[in-house]
Order: sequence, then structure tokens, then C-alpha cells
Amino acid sequence: MFEFATTMKNLLKKFFKINKLILFCIGIVVCLFLLEDTVLLINKFHSNYPILGQQLNNIPVSNRNQQEIISFIQSQFDQNIPLKLSINGKKYLIYKKDVGAKIDYNKTIANVYTPGRTGNFFPDLITQNKALFGGSNAQLQVSLSKSLILLTTLSIADTVNKQPQPAMPDFKKNIFNTIPQKNGIKINSTAISAVIDSYIFVPPATAIVIPTQIISKKYRAYDLNAIRKQALDYTSRPISITSGGVLFTLTPSDLKYLLSVSEQVDPTNPKQTIMGLTLDRINLVHLLAPYATEVEAATHAEFNEYDIYPTIYSQFYTNTRRVVDVPIGARLNSEVLGTSTTATQSGEKIVYLTFDDGPNIIYHPILLGILKEKNIKATFYLVGANSTDYKTIALRTISEGHAIGNHTLSHLNLSTLSSNQIIYELTTTNAILSALLGPGKKITLFRPPYGGTNSLVEKDAAMLGLKQKLWTIDPKDWSEPSTTDLINRVVSNVHPGSVILMHSNHFATVKALPYIIDKIKAMGYLFKTQE
Ligand SMILES: [Zn+2]
Repeated sequence: MFEFATTMKNLLKKFFKINKLILFCIGIVVCLFLLEDTVLLINKFHSNYPILGQQLNNIPVSNRNQQEIISFIQSQFDQNIPLKLSINGKKYLIYKKDVGAKIDYNKTIANVYTPGRTGNFFPDLITQNKALFGGSNAQLQVSLSKSLILLTTLSIADTVNKQPQPAMPDFKKNIFNTIPQKNGIKINSTAISAVIDSYIFVPPATAIVIPTQIISKKYRAYDLNAIRKQALDYTSRPISITSGGVLFTLTPSDLKYLLSVSEQVDPTNPKQTIMGLTLDRINLVHLLAPYATEVEAATHAEFNEYDIYPTIYSQFYTNTRRVVDVPIGARLNSEVLGTSTTATQSGEKIVYLTFDDGPNIIYHPILLGILKEKNIKATFYLVGANSTDYKTIALRTISEGHAIGNHTLSHLNLSTLSSNQIIYELTTTNAILSALLGPGKKITLFRPPYGGTNSLVEKDAAMLGLKQKLWTIDPKDWSEPSTTDLINRVVSNVHPGSVILMHSNHFATVKALPYIIDKIKAMGYLFKTQE
């Protein structure tokens, strides 16, 4: 993944040297047929024209209603008739096999119909392409957009670069069924860079083949029945969690949903691997996102997503389960929230985009690219330790005109610390960040991790010349919601003076940000940095 990201980074650097990029777009769809050879399908679209010009079988998308479009696409495929898609006269045929068994209705509504009606520009072209080809297929698009190149390439890494999977019980349906072992598939990142490179100025006349390789692995023989037995044992009893006094129970079926089989080092022989049961972290945050909302509504404190996994994990293997307590940040200061900006009082249409927890090597630079492209300035609350590790990315954040603030040295919940510890976390970070700002400049903004604050934290921060800044909109991007969900969670809550909390270390944020900006702009808002 890092090798891949580095290659893409080098490629990106190259693009920065180009002043005017030629308008074009190539869509490449990589269809995976698991357990068979990989079949690569290619599609390309010209992006000079808004999506409003999109036609399905000679009728503009914008002239049809939602249900009609969906039924139409499905009926064509049901009859094995290819779909004729055209953009300003350029025609493309899409066959059922390109899409998979069934089109994804929700994606079609969100990504084909809506952009077709509203005439949104380039990013919608990409998602529309994706939607038409179904959620199960991975794809790559090369676009004029610097940030989107990296974005869509990472999207491939997400969906195509898969590790081989061992055979495992079907935890979700019937534990006595076995899901067979699967090969992995990997994109050859060096070769793909060369492909993108050679076509970046001129759309290819013929299909590009994206180089991939199948990775297969021999797993050590193991007793799947033993894993089944273990799974039944581990999931037979619920695990209860409280956080801020709100109770949540992971039922046996929740626990089964969270299970997967993974390779682990044999503790008795480090040269060998054994198969073990693990909890799926992504599924866990998905499952707990609604609960986190409930906890925060009840407590006005941030749910601590960083602690949830180890807390649940520690209970998973124990025979004596108890009700586990997930710590939360201290209460959010309602006064700070209520008067977070003067704009709130005057009703000026201003919003503040804020990104916590950076810098990091992958998603943070992509966010910077998107902000640059959209000409938006935001506020980044940087973690001191990360700013030392990724100094050049922190410097880039500053040089591109964004505000930066103190988010502590090591992302601790300050409300649980002594005054000495609080001051250490804040002063070390102030020193690191001030040095990046340059001579004579001081850090004045501060955001406590998890919103964990109390009168002591506020007093110490004020003594160091730091203004505590919280937020008014928390879309929980850390739970990796769908792009549509994340956009809605932000956009539907925007008011004059809103402070939007997001994070610069999540793929979900990267995917949703271009749309969030466009939609808020369209509502007549200006974006400002916090002061
Ligand atoms: Zn944070």
C-alpha cells in the first residue's frame, strides 16, 4: 500500500508542474471474477461536456424520471440487451456482464439520476460510471483533476488490492457452511503509473489493460471445525457496553457479524502461522456509529472510538464477561459551542471546515489537493507527534493558506490528566507547530481530542494563549459511512457559523469532501478559517 501510495505521490508531483491540464477523462473498469481469471473491461468518457448531456438509449437522462431510469436499465439487462450510453454523441455499449447480476438501485439514484438531472460536472461523471458498473466491480478513472487521480487510484487499492483469504465458516448466515479460500489480486503499481503517464495528455484510442496479478497462498492445514466450535463459544454470550451511562449490547448475531478468520503468528512457533478468529474493526465501527450518536446526544461528550476496539477485544476471549465501560471525552462546553463564532450571532453565511488528527501520509495530502482545487481554506488541528513525523505535509498545509491548531502531542484525553501533563501536551505541540509557522508567529487555536475538556484544561490552555475550539457538526467520518451518508450528515446540518468536524485520516472523508464543498457553496456559504 505504501509503495503504491509513494508511486502515486511521485506521479502527483509531476502533475503539479503542469499549469493547464487538458480536459479529458478515461474510465477504466476492472471487473473481478473471483476464482477465475481476471477480466479487464475498459470504458472511457470524454469530460468536456456536463453530465446533463448524458443520454441513455438516445433519451437524455435529464428528461427521464428516477424510477423510469432504474427500471429501464434493469429491463435492458434482464433481456441481455446492452445499454447504449452516450455523451455528446460519443457512444458506449455496456453489457450485463460488465455490471454484474443486478444493478445497484440506490447507487443509480444517487449517482446516475441525480447528476443527470442537476448537470453536475466532472466528479459526477466518475461516480456515474461507477454506479453503472455496479458496486462490486473495482475501477480506475484517470481525470484532469490532480486530487481525483490519487483518490480514484486509492479507490482501486481499496477494492482491488486484496489479500488472499483463507477458507472460513460463513459467520453471517450458517456457521456450518464453508466459504472457500480465495486468491488475492493486486494491481502492479509501477506498471499502472506508466499507463497513466503515457495517457495523461491524450485519451487512448483503444482500451488500456490495467496490469494485475493474482496472489495465491497455501494456507497451513487447520481444523475449520475447531474454529467453528470456538466461534460458537465466543459468540454465545452477549457483550454489554456502557459509555456515558448509555447501554448497548452486542448480541450473539452482532458478534457473528463481526467475526472473520485471519492468519496469526503461532505463539509457540514464530516461524509458523495459525488460523485465528478476529473481530472486524470496520464492521465494528459501522455497528457502533448509531450508538456513538446516542452517547454523544446524552452526554454532550465525544464517544471515544479509539478505545472501543481494544475494549471489546479484551472481552471477546474472556469467559467471565462483564459490562464494559468505554470512556468518553469530558462534556463538551456548551458555552463554547454556542458562541463558537461571531458569525453565528450575526447570521452571516459562513462555515468552517476543520480537519483533526493529521498530518498523515495518505489522506491528508489528498484533502489538501481537493481544497486547493476548490480554492477553499480550512483549519487543521494537528497532532504534535504526527507533525514531527510528517513535517513536509504539515508545512504544505501552512503554505497553502490553511490555519493550523494544536491537537495535543499524542492525542490524549486531556480531561483525564493532571495540570502538569496537560501543559506538557500543549507546550510541546505549540513548540513543534510554531517552528513550522516561522519566526514571530504563534499558535493560537486548540482543540482537545475527543472534545475532552474541563475547567482545568480551559485554564491551562488560556494561560498558554490558546483558544479552545470545538465544533457544531460531527458527521462521524471516522466510522467510514457511505459517501452519500457523510455528505447528508454534513450538508443537512449546515447553518450560518457551523463548524464542521472531520478528520484527515479517513478515506470516507476524502471521497465525500468534493461534494460537501460543492453543495455548501451552492447554498450560498463562504468558507473561512477559524481565528
Ligand atoms: Zn482527534
